[in-house]
Amino acid sequence: MGAYQYIPVENQENLAEVLNILPKIGYVGVNVTVPYKNLAFEVIKELGFEISEDAQILGAVNTINFKEKTATNTDPYGFSKIFKPHEDNHILIIGAGGVASSVALACDGSNITITNRTPEKAENIAEKFMCDIYHGELSKLDLSNFDAIINATSLGMNGEILPLNYKTLQKNTICIDTIYNPITTPFLIHSKEKGCKIINGAMMLIHQGAKSFEKWTGITPNIQTAQKLMKEFII
Ligand code: NAP
Repeated sequence: MGAYQYIPVENQENLAEVLNILPKIGYVGVNVTVPYKNLAFEVIKELGFEISEDAQILGAVNTINFKEKTATNTDPYGFSKIFKPHEDNHILIIGAGGVASSVALACDGSNITITNRTPEKAENIAEKFMCDIYHGELSKLDLSNFDAIINATSLGMNGEILPLNYKTLQKNTICIDTIYNPITTPFLIHSKEKGCKIINGAMMLIHQGAKSFEKWTGITPNIQTAQKLMKEFII
């Protein structure tokens, strides 16, 4: 028997305290989410935990195991379960937050172009993963040469349309949205209308969560059961 609970952290100062207290009151491990993944990495490093290679590259953790004193980031794994690019693929990543970094790591080795509203953040990721940067207006970018386009921004969570030049989108381009709620964003709807294969963020979420569960319990959860449960909670 076990339970998975939501524990709000009020502010940055509280995080170290929370991560110190939880194992003392019986918690086996935690997931850490935005905006604390980078800070949790620093706290856990300070505490001498063994940090996985992916998490070290990203400087961010989303899964901590208190018992084993280990920490990892299962987001790149989750993304790699929904999409694995070929080396010669040209990939466009839109966004430069935590998820965009995980996507860049999962696509490392391919030819990546990154673009973001705040260019400095795109520059950091580009430097780390040797990506090209598109600095211009997103709506003016010619999409015809990309094998895959990945939305790693939050644009689409509230019905916003990713402002792309959809006229240039080719039907052999795979369009991926990391957003899982709603399950189909305007970006995916427009891409489907152009005949593209579309992938939403639901399976990425399930796989990263399943990997976290495995890290805490040693049990590999049934992905189909998780998928069924997710459908009940997300309309
Ligand atoms: P984050 O670190 O806060 O990054 C947010 C990104 O969205 C930044 O690039 C930000 O640009 C961009 N953005 C936000 N509002 C924008 C706007 N109005 N116009 C243009 N760009 C905008 O968040 P994150 O953790 O990377 O999460 C990003 C998305 O990934 C979330 O919406 C969430 O749905 C999804 N997600 C999916 C999974 C999964 O497992 N499938 C897991 C976590 C998150 P700036 O840098 O300019 O602010």
